[in-house]
Amino acid sequence: MLAQRLRGIPPTIFTEMSALAARTGSVNLGQGFPDVDGPPAAIARAVRALESGANQYPPGPGVPELRRAVARHQQRHYGIELDPDAEVVVTTGCTEGIAGALLGLVDPGDEVVLLEPFYDSYTAMIQMAGGVRRPVTLRAPDFLLDPDELRVAVTPRTRLILLNSPHNPTGTVLTRAELQAVADVAVEHDLLVVTDEVYEHLVFDDHEHVPIATLPGMAERTLTLSSVGKSYSFTGWKVGWATGPAPLVGAVLAAKQWLTFTSGGPLQPAVAVALDEEADFPRALAADLRVRRDLLCGGLAEVGLDVRVPEGTYFATTDVSALGWDDGLTFCLALPERAGVVAIPTQGFHDSDAGRHQVRWAFCKDAGVIEEGLRRLAAADLRR
Ligand code: GLN
Repeated sequence: MLAQRLRGIPPTIFTEMSALAARTGSVNLGQGFPDVDGPPAAIARAVRALESGANQYPPGPGVPELRRAVARHQQRHYGIELDPDAEVVVTTGCTEGIAGALLGLVDPGDEVVLLEPFYDSYTAMIQMAGGVRRPVTLRAPDFLLDPDELRVAVTPRTRLILLNSPHNPTGTVLTRAELQAVADVAVEHDLLVVTDEVYEHLVFDDHEHVPIATLPGMAERTLTLSSVGKSYSFTGWKVGWATGPAPLVGAVLAAKQWLTFTSGGPLQPAVAVALDEEADFPRALAADLRVRRDLLCGGLAEVGLDVRVPEGTYFATTDVSALGWDDGLTFCLALPERAGVVAIPTQGFHDSDAGRHQVRWAFCKDAGVIEEGLRRLAAADLRR
């Protein structure tokens, strides 16, 4: 029955693994959503909006106060100047930003260069747009970007580079040098860059998130995507934004008006409050996540998993081959019964074999939940 544009795309692994966790009563260290909500002042603003008549369609590009708040956010953090009326569009989470960007910018047969492992919606949307993916692999254990591999992936058919940093699922934060290598290729071949920066504030230790739009020659060719979900622990609000040159933002809007049209009317002013008045929230969240990262990574290492401590995001990846498993999916499917824990196999985020033994664990959960998960793992026999 399924149209060709959707054929062969598996159901999203995140929903599948969360359902598995619910069914088996497992500790869910899979899907990335926090157990604690974002700032109460933003929630109060949403309630006020609901009670005071903000219950009809918001404007297509988003309510002006949120577009202005997004522009101020980009200015405050990165020195990026945006016209909120032409260079900002509000989307239904970053996921719709990705959909809008790919449907709005990619023609059938166009190639999209993207980092592998790739977030599952990227490949689904590239296929729905009729595009062809050209992965550049970040390889364990360090997940570095190889500029030569990037150069080889670019062909005369390349339409854009789809970037993601901080990177899900590896937790890698691309360095300024790596981003410069991407920028060099983009400028040399006159390519667009679409960059998913939803984990922009969740960066640890002395690592730094550098928006590629801030590198020389990049502002005019970069569409930047982000959202309130990760930075402010409101993943269910599904409010995101795309920023950049008017033609690129316009392309997103051109597609998005036929997808959701608009969404989140009462939430949009609340997100503006979060961005403007709760600017310290993401920093405090990152500081707190760092402690939970170390808790999780320490515990995973203790049970014999080869863990890479991430520089950003709220995910850690491990290699399960040391425990004798053929691949991460088999491990993750056995894990609820073995240990009562759920994690995400990332092999499906690859075209190559590089992710075969990689498993992702989320540490955006309560410390108590992580501890319980680790207790269960420690008590279980995890060997194949
Ligand atoms: N971004 C979340 C993650 O990586 C999942 C979102 C989703 O389920 N689509 O876990």
